[in-house]
This record gives sequence, C-alpha cells and structure tokens, in this order.
Amino acid sequence: MEKRVYNFSPGPAVLPLPALQEAQRDLLALPGAGMSILEISHRSSTFGKIIEAAEANLRKLLSIPEDYHVLFLQGGAQLQFAMAPMNILRNSGKTADYIICGTWGNTAIKQAKTQGPIRVAWDGKETNYNRMPSNSELDLNPDAAYVHFTSNETIQGIQFQTEPAVGIIPLLCDASSDFLHKKVPVEKYGILYACAQKNLGPAGVTVVIIRKDLVERSCEDLPSMLSYRVMAESKSLYNTPPCFGVYMVKLVTDWIMSEVGDLDKMYERNKKKAQLLYDVIDASEGFYDGHAERASRSVMNVTFRLPDPELEKPFLAEAAERGLMELKGHRSVGGFRASIYNAMPVEGVELLAEVMKSFCKKNRK
Ligand SMILES: *Cc1c(COP(=O)(O)O)cnc(C)c1O
Repeated sequence: MEKRVYNFSPGPAVLPLPALQEAQRDLLALPGAGMSILEISHRSSTFGKIIEAAEANLRKLLSIPEDYHVLFLQGGAQLQFAMAPMNILRNSGKTADYIICGTWGNTAIKQAKTQGPIRVAWDGKETNYNRMPSNSELDLNPDAAYVHFTSNETIQGIQFQTEPAVGIIPLLCDASSDFLHKKVPVEKYGILYACAQKNLGPAGVTVVIIRKDLVERSCEDLPSMLSYRVMAESKSLYNTPPCFGVYMVKLVTDWIMSEVGDLDKMYERNKKKAQLLYDVIDASEGFYDGHAERASRSVMNVTFRLPDPELEKPFLAEAAERGLMELKGHRSVGGFRASIYNAMPVEGVELLAEVMKSFCKKNRK
C-alpha cells in the first residue's frame, strides 16, 4: 500500500484511519447484508439502521434536544447559504442579519441576497478579517428573521470562542470547518449546519440541525428538494440520499465515541494540537507572522506567513520531504495554512512544529 502522508488540506480533509479501515474492510459486503454500501438500496433496513445510527451518534455527541431535526442533505454548505433564507426569510416580511468575518461569510450573504433583504450586522473587512467581533460590536436588529454567522472562517483561520449573543432571534450557523470540534449548546441555535468534508466525512453530505418550529414556519411553495419541511417529513429519504457519505458520518462519529470519548475530550485534544503550532509562531519573534489576532485564533486552521515570500517554496519543500502536505495558504491570506481537524493525528502536528522550528533557526536573519 502507498504510504499515507500527513494531509493538512482545508477540505476535503484527513479522515480518521480506523473509519477508513472499517469502510475498506466492509466495502465489498456490509456485515449481514452481503452488499456494498455503494450498492445497497436507501430503502433497505440495513441502510435504515446506518442513517439512524449516524443521527443517534450526532444526537448523543452534541446532546441535540428533541425539538430539533437532524437532516442529511446534499448540495454542500453552499446550498444551505441559499436554502436557509429560501425557507425562513422569503415569506417572513423581515430582514436577516449577517455577521461577516471572512470569505465564507461573504459567500453566504451573496446567496442570501437572492432570497430577501439582508443587513450587515458586522464586517471585519477593515482589518482583512483577522478577528471575530465582540458582542458589543454587533449591530443587531431585534426584529430580524435570523442572524447568520460562520463559527470558523476556514480561509482566514479565525474562530468564535463562543457563539454571538443574539437573544431570542434565531441564530443560524455555518459550522462547516469546526463542526464536532467541541460541544456547542445546540439549544442556542435555530439552524446549525456543516458540509461533511472538513471534519465529518467525505464530500457529498451536509448535516443540518434545525429547530422544529423553524421547519414548521418555512415557505410552502418550494421545490421539494429545497424544502426543509419535505426533507424533515421524509427523514432525509425523500430522494436517494448520499448513502456513502451518511455511512462515513456514522463511522467518523463512532470513532469519536470509541477512540476519543466525547466532544469535551475532542476539544482538549484539538486545543493541544493548535497550541503546539501557535507556540512556535509566538516563540519565533516575528519570523512566523500569524494572520489571526490571538483572541480569535482558530484551533482548526492555523494561518501564518513568512517575512520573505522567497522562503515559501523552500518551506513547502522541506515540509513535503517530511510527509507534511497541503500547507499552502489561500491566496487572499497568503503564506501557509495548517488545517488540523479532529482526525489529524497529534504526531502530524508535532512533526510540523518541529519542521517550523528548525526552518526558523536556519533562516532567521
Ligand atoms: C468549505 C466551507 C464551505 C463550502 O462548503 P461546500 O460544501 O463546498 O459548499 C462553506 N463554509 C465553510 C465555513 C467552509 O469551510
């Protein structure tokens, strides 16, 4: 078998090895079914048990209250950028508030504008999206249909430490790049959604956790595939769901419960991993220039630049030599980005920290 590298890609991203191994072991024939997950009917009892188990795992890990649906949808996070306002803004006669902290927040608002009137509650553009706002900086409309925010801006590497305080206004969150990195109080959210390919499974499935009253209030005249009501009533089986993706969500959440324990332990592990890299950045006396302000640093995506862009290629080459891949940053931020999602082993982060230290020693003027 080809040797596995440490994959620091922002997404699709590293998955837990035990989950991949179980999928590999059972790929030709699921136990008790004798057919592959790639072949089996979504109406079969075997698949029924898989999708129920995936939901049960999520409910357990996040203590999702009874008055929330858990949906497994397609179209990625970006379909939710449109689907959420389509369902709960369009007919409301209200406006929606958007907190813009980076690339994904900007993409979300653009889609929302196709569905109804939008207000900007805060925008971090002035400082090139290097921090999250405090509650007192938010310009919220108490009568908004909802407030939307991005819990972790994947490209900028900034993250909310706690969700913004919005009172009784429904809070909508794109948690694509930090879903399940820690336990969050689901009862504070109206909708919490995440595409799978960062922290949860392969591309193709999106988890949408939505409070039941929002589903009940949602627009009536929508195409079935775009209606939360239809998807909730059919338990995500209105049409053929992304069966393999749902199966992997089950295996990845099984892994969290059996190998890590719970989301508090997951968070401890994630904080330790991130600290290894931020410590190197801080100790480098400016050699590594972290993009994020300290209080907004992401524990999922660590973004940093070098003093001299000429050093970028040699850094990537040295990292690649040690099996550390996909570290190039997004062009809007420059430099590097180490995405260290739940499934990135501590050993991979330790090795990166070591390479960063020795590169700094050799190249610091
Ligand atoms: C990756 C990402 C998206 C885009 O997800 P798609 O599934 O490709 O639509 C949206 N939001 C955030 C925060 C992301 O990290």
